[in-house]
Amino acid sequence: MKKIGKYSFGIGDRFAHQGNAQLRALTKAQKGGIEVTPVWNKSNREHMYVHSNPSDTRNEADQAVKALGYKGEYCVDADHINLGNVEGFISSSDFFTIDVASKIGIPASAEDTASFIASCAAYIGELNIPAIAHPFHVNDALLKTIADKFLTAINEAGKIYRYISEHKGSDDFITEISMDEVESPQSPVELFFILKMIAGQGIPAQTIAPKFTGRFNKGVDYVGDVAMFAKEFEEDILVIDYAVKTFGLMDNLKLSVHSGSDKFSIYPEIQRIITKYDKGIHVKTAGTTWLEEVIGLAVSGGEALKAAKAIYSQALTRKDELCAPYADVIDIHTEQLPSPEEVESWSSEKFANTLRHIPGHPDYNANLRQLIHVGYKIASEMGTYYTDLLKANSEVIGQCVEENLYDRHLKRLFNI
Ligand SMILES: [Zn+2]
Repeated sequence: MKKIGKYSFGIGDRFAHQGNAQLRALTKAQKGGIEVTPVWNKSNREHMYVHSNPSDTRNEADQAVKALGYKGEYCVDADHINLGNVEGFISSSDFFTIDVASKIGIPASAEDTASFIASCAAYIGELNIPAIAHPFHVNDALLKTIADKFLTAINEAGKIYRYISEHKGSDDFITEISMDEVESPQSPVELFFILKMIAGQGIPAQTIAPKFTGRFNKGVDYVGDVAMFAKEFEEDILVIDYAVKTFGLMDNLKLSVHSGSDKFSIYPEIQRIITKYDKGIHVKTAGTTWLEEVIGLAVSGGEALKAAKAIYSQALTRKDELCAPYADVIDIHTEQLPSPEEVESWSSEKFANTLRHIPGHPDYNANLRQLIHVGYKIASEMGTYYTDLLKANSEVIGQCVEENLYDRHLKRLFNI
């Protein structure tokens, strides 16, 4: 079976033009002593909006690897797939993010529920996880609640996993289970029993993406209680460690942080905790690269700056439509969005400084940044006008992409 390295980054970009620049950033990290496996990811939702195919993501990855003469491992992730759309990803992907969020909360059959609860008899009472100071109190009622929430979802994950391995004709791929696109976070004790269910389904998961405490809004910093996040993250790591030994899961199973780009305020905690326990991490960052593309266009000036401004003003007119699919992962304060007329008067520098994620910079506007984040559909509709501008300004844009991923993400997360 293909095994993911200790550290890995979900990369990739809407229009498949920034593969080289992103890989350059990861190669730079390698030179700094940190091996981070690139995983090109793109969800079905993104493919639909930009009218691309899973094979385009594979081509982008292969082309970048070839262009840079990269010798390390890399993967192509079928991001957030389910039984209804996985088919198109089978041949081009070797990493599958099985999304079962939509099945959470649908109770399983009485028989399945009873047999799951019976299988947990050994954990009734005080459940002590090594290195977690307080015990978890487990009783039938808690097990029933957890089963009602998650058993159907993990049974579904099992079905999807088996579908993939049958259709690929092998198990030579990496499996992630994601439950991040839901409203309420899973607690560490829930995670423990979810992992038991995953083992029960025989899924060799190597990464798992729970919903963490706090808001992981797209393209902007973490919003929430950093200390609470750190406590939960640390307990999750200890739960995984114990579950791996107890249930016989993959020994490299690690946490995956979705919408992980730009969460600068929690990076030091993630770094501290994975170092403390010598654990791996997967961080999905693809969305931030699209924003760098727009910044690069703005910096380039002329027609490219005009296009960046047009993306903003059109996104503003179509705000509700663009934001709807991302309602749970963005928070835009409309009154803090500049008018199109104001943006029209901006220089390259002013536009870039407003969009670029430098917290504390006087021009930085997280509201504008989130609106542009969901505005990639506008660029997609611009067709070759947009992609020709990407080609014409590839050097400046590539520098923005590389700097963002290396300086603002990899260096901070891995203390390079
Ligand atoms: Zn996700």
